[in-house]
Amino acid sequence: MPTSRRRPDTLAVHAGSPRPRVLGAIVTPVFQSAMYEDEGSGVYHDIRYIRLNNTPNHLAVQEKLAALEGAEAAVVASSGMAAITTALLTFLHAGDHLLIQDSLYGGTHAFVTRDLESFGIGFDFVDGDDPASWQSKLRPSTRVLYVETISNPLMRVPDLEAVVGFARKHRLVSMIDNTFASPINFRPIEHGFDLSLHSGTKYLNGHSDIVAGAAVGSAELVSRIKRRLDHLGGSLDPHACFLLERGMKTLALRVRRQNENAAAIADYLSGHRAVERVHYPGLASHRAHERAARLFDGMGGMLSFEPAGGEAAAERVLAMLTVPAVAPSLGSVETLVTRPALTSHSGMPREERMALGVTDALVRVSVGIEAVEDLLEDFGKALDSV
Ligand SMILES: *Cc1c(COP(=O)(O)O)cnc(C)c1O
Repeated sequence: MPTSRRRPDTLAVHAGSPRPRVLGAIVTPVFQSAMYEDEGSGVYHDIRYIRLNNTPNHLAVQEKLAALEGAEAAVVASSGMAAITTALLTFLHAGDHLLIQDSLYGGTHAFVTRDLESFGIGFDFVDGDDPASWQSKLRPSTRVLYVETISNPLMRVPDLEAVVGFARKHRLVSMIDNTFASPINFRPIEHGFDLSLHSGTKYLNGHSDIVAGAAVGSAELVSRIKRRLDHLGGSLDPHACFLLERGMKTLALRVRRQNENAAAIADYLSGHRAVERVHYPGLASHRAHERAARLFDGMGGMLSFEPAGGEAAAERVLAMLTVPAVAPSLGSVETLVTRPALTSHSGMPREERMALGVTDALVRVSVGIEAVEDLLEDFGKALDSV
């Protein structure tokens, strides 16, 4: 069977592993060597050196990720933010302009609103769900259109097909932060996106123990990002590469379980008397449900909800839960709950935050792989107490 036709569960386990195996080792060993013998190519970016993200551990994990996303190439970075900022700074130069979705991961939002201007790069926010409004924001200098597959914390899904069409028509580089979906649920390159970006800290690694990032796409675009990354220096350490490769072997297994658990919890919360609203793309009540059902292989492990009774009720629910930990971040094996008003959106003025729908009572859940019965029982007890 050609390797490229293998299914995600098989690719997650096997793709990228060195062949022949290193001294017969089933697992890619950690190559804790900063540099390698000169092969005499004379090209700086080809020298094999840890910062250039091209040691055996980098190559193995990059190949696995590219295979999982159905893409030609991938490059890893020292964090999701390193991948995102480097990708943006590869395709945006002084005088250029960026169109970017208005509901963004906090770090990306901060970079765009606080740092881009110092590089001479302009930007406009767009509503990802309203393609008709994009044209009026387009400028001759616009180079990039940027969205997130599923946005935090209301799990909005932008009009992904319109993003690809608009970017092609206007010769923009289309970039998508695919962290929340993971390649198990959505593969942006197969849908025509130019670049898929990840925080590997989340689902890809899945065990809350490293920070990592990645950019995935055509060999040409990825090599341009790699060259910029070589200079900016946001490379991933080989040991972190090893852990990321190990984590990704169970990606399909974990994400499918998280999809199932999240769907069951979303259903349960929707029917609970003490819950006012649930945001989950798998629910028929979600505004992009039809789109998500058409484009995604799974609805993801992220959801948010508002208990009746406002902030006090939300605090009570968090205090009563015994299985999930109260913590930011997401995508790991353990269930995590957080109030975005206090974490991801704490820097935003309250009125602006409320207008977005991020209320004081909103609770975000990153659903883990625990037994769903235990999770349902725990949420039930916590909600019955409010
Ligand atoms: C966490 C996250 C990032 C940033 O990743 P780091 O690895 O923390 O730098 C970017 N985008 C999304 C959607 C994230 O959840």
